[in-house]
Amino acid sequence: MRLDRSGPVPYRLLNRAEALRLTYADASPVDVLAGIVAEFPDQVALVSSFGAEAAVLLHMVSQVDRDLPVLMIDTLMLFEETLTYQRELSDHLGLANVQHIRPDGEDLARVDPRGDLHRRDPDACCVVRKVVPLERALGRWPVTISGRKRFQASTRSDLSVFETDGDSLKVNPLAHWSAQDLRDYMIRHDLPLHPLVAQGYPSIGCLPCTTRVAPGEDHRAGRWRGSEKIECGIHFGADGRVQRAS
Ligand code: SF4
Repeated sequence: MRLDRSGPVPYRLLNRAEALRLTYADASPVDVLAGIVAEFPDQVALVSSFGAEAAVLLHMVSQVDRDLPVLMIDTLMLFEETLTYQRELSDHLGLANVQHIRPDGEDLARVDPRGDLHRRDPDACCVVRKVVPLERALGRWPVTISGRKRFQASTRSDLSVFETDGDSLKVNPLAHWSAQDLRDYMIRHDLPLHPLVAQGYPSIGCLPCTTRVAPGEDHRAGRWRGSEKIECGIHFGADGRVQRAS
């Protein structure tokens, strides 16, 4: 699938993301992925946490291009179960190009030498361990795909499938999917669950900042529990720009 620049709406007059929204208005997430990968060869990477719901989008990618770069942000604070799950799920799906994005050693030595910044200033910790490493990596890929969904947080309620950030394009193929859609897809394709889901972790981030969620609680209640923080700061706000930790 390629962009139709001959349609009734002149392509050049439209915001780039709006043009893509029109082109892919009725497309499935897999068709969006296939179209974007074909439209922007060697310019696309997927960002994945290999968390509780990551298998859905990764499975779709495996149907389109198993060599697509998959960037995993390894804060060096992840659960060991997440690292094991990344290896096992990648093997299961045949993903051949998973790359770990890690914080810079000199940055850590300067701002978090004892590894306890998450207790004193979690926003700053997310910046040095997630935001900065990802921004450095994304300089290489003008088009990035993420598994963000609207239902996940109030900050994502207006999330679009296509967003722009300067000359970069952000693609969220599952933006409209519900938690039930994800569960149905996982079952239909017999995808392996992150082992911590069965232990009461429906949303999984870094070990020091993730706790179990009780029945009836919001599925992200275990992230930065007891603080106002709801995003790690690597996502993009309504203006399409990087949203620093809030
Ligand atoms: S989630 Fe916690 S440990 Fe991970 S980068 Fe953010 S503050 Fe640091």
